[in-house]
Amino acid sequence: MFFNRHLLSVTLLLGSGLLLSACGPTADEASATVISGKTMGTFYRVSVVGLDKSREPELRRQIEAQLAEDDHQLSTYKDDSVLSRFNQYNGTVPQPISSGMADAIVTSLRIGQKTAGAMDITVGPLVNLWGFGPNKEPVKMPTQAQIDSAKAEVGLQHLKVIQQSDGQYLQKDLPGLYVDLSTVGEGYATDHLARLVEGNGISDYLVSVGGAVVSRGKNPAGKPWQVAIQKPTDKENAVQAIVDLQGMGISTSGSYRNYYELDGKRLSHIIDPATGRPITHKLVSATVIAPTALEADGWDTGLMVLGTDKALALAQKEHLAVYLITKEGDGFKTNMTQQFKAYLRKGEKP
Ligand code: ADP
Ligand code: MG
Repeated sequence: MFFNRHLLSVTLLLGSGLLLSACGPTADEASATVISGKTMGTFYRVSVVGLDKSREPELRRQIEAQLAEDDHQLSTYKDDSVLSRFNQYNGTVPQPISSGMADAIVTSLRIGQKTAGAMDITVGPLVNLWGFGPNKEPVKMPTQAQIDSAKAEVGLQHLKVIQQSDGQYLQKDLPGLYVDLSTVGEGYATDHLARLVEGNGISDYLVSVGGAVVSRGKNPAGKPWQVAIQKPTDKENAVQAIVDLQGMGISTSGSYRNYYELDGKRLSHIIDPATGRPITHKLVSATVIAPTALEADGWDTGLMVLGTDKALALAQKEHLAVYLITKEGDGFKTNMTQQFKAYLRKGEKP
């Protein structure tokens, strides 16, 4: 386990998410209020400075209500969520959705277009075919015919958000379209927690859901909150880079985080919509810093699908703050864009 009490407030452990969700507060967090728990199949953590102890139960209540609401909107694991009801609906009439969900889908569709469909929130039929959604893992490799028939139900062009004076609507032109927002869910929920904390008049905080983090202001030691990216080695405390988010969102997607083995092959939970199959290249993880955790969470998946070279080229073209770790021989190589360097702590550049 990685833990450096002098440097770090939180560890973003590439490929394994937030380590501190599992092992308690750091020295920095000791005098902060830390509210944490489980949500959406992962952990959330809210660290705030300067909160009166008496306000903690009320803040926890608000946090849990917010997370429950986000899950009720976006979950594909709950049959009665707003998104599941849209997926079950077998027609093409626009359906009303919340402004939060509209925002998540508009952002996802935009990133989908920018990544030429590598990130595709209509990939659900393929995710389910490979057993990474609510369906069980298959006992046999899906056949090409099964992949082709799932692919026929996938495509960004089939989904539209309509903004009207009376609200937002979601429309599909294929009745069988299945929208999967799992890939932006953690970022979406993280942004909401950040907003909720700010709404309580707190300006020094670090919030995270799974592999998405937003931090602003200072930790209890009066220093900027720091997020560490760990080297993907066996060494326990090899720091690759330490970043100061300055109010931005960060998210990591890792190919070995969620997988199973079938016929001796390791199958990743990230699907390349172009092939209809789990990704197989050597990009191990993609970390993105963006104005919102939602955006960072959308991009990291798209970049994972593209692989190192295309991901780096696109990140440069779009001026994204991106950090990639790629398997090379027995070791790893890293790439980062100029924009990412701006967040590295001075004197701690790798
Ligand atoms: P994690 O944080 O667990 O790495 P990600 O944010 O990378 O998760 O999202 C992975 C999930 O996104 C998958 O479990 C699946 O539901 C969905 N998904 C898989 N491939 C794609 C894709 N190409 N585009 C959009 N969503 C995808
Ligand atoms: Mg993602």
